[in-house]
Amino acid sequence: MTHSTGTLYIISAPSGAGKSSLVKALTDTNPEIRVSISHTTRAMRPGEVDGVNYHFVTREEFVKMGEHGDFLERAEVFGNFYGTSQSRLQHTLDEGHDLILEIDWQGAEQVRKLMPQARSIFILPPSLQALHQRLTNRGQDSDEIIDGRMREAVSEMSHYVEYDYLIINDDFAHALDDLKAIFRANQLQQKRQQVRFGKLLAELLG
Ligand code: 5GP
Repeated sequence: MTHSTGTLYIISAPSGAGKSSLVKALTDTNPEIRVSISHTTRAMRPGEVDGVNYHFVTREEFVKMGEHGDFLERAEVFGNFYGTSQSRLQHTLDEGHDLILEIDWQGAEQVRKLMPQARSIFILPPSLQALHQRLTNRGQDSDEIIDGRMREAVSEMSHYVEYDYLIINDDFAHALDDLKAIFRANQLQQKRQQVRFGKLLAELLG
């Protein structure tokens, strides 16, 4: 064996908790960690790019993909469909890359059943006030949408107990350190190190 299988990570958070920024900062410094690009039927936000943030598809396309069994998991969030495509997922893990799924608690529940070896991380904001502030600062959504997202956030946050790890995103740098520590500790597991340092181990032990 020349490589070990990567770990599948599920990362969930209420919108506005800073999940995407943390994941981006993690992968910017650790490019070997991959992020799965979901399919969604929601409208593209300003600054988003098709094929980068999401694969933006119509409801018809999404339903067709579901019928073809293309999704590992899927869920309806805020009236839009979101799903993780199966294609390349196993291949990425087999290549030895850790892979992140940025999905909601409903998707997390489905993935845990199918892939119990997946590790899951929940990110919480430091307060409801901070969450509201972050949702408002985006400046992309109406008050009505923000109020709805606050209600959804509380409901999403109630699922933190189902996750292996919990990170509070009060200070960004600190939260990023916490996130990096989880990935690092997993990469240092004896089984993975054995593969990575096979030559050294053979030399040391004769
Ligand atoms: P947003 O529209 O703000 O990008 O994401 C809204 C919610 O949908 C977030 O909680 C996000 O984690 C979740 N989400 C994004 N992609 C997927 C996916 O592929 N599957 C599931 N189940 N949830 C997703």
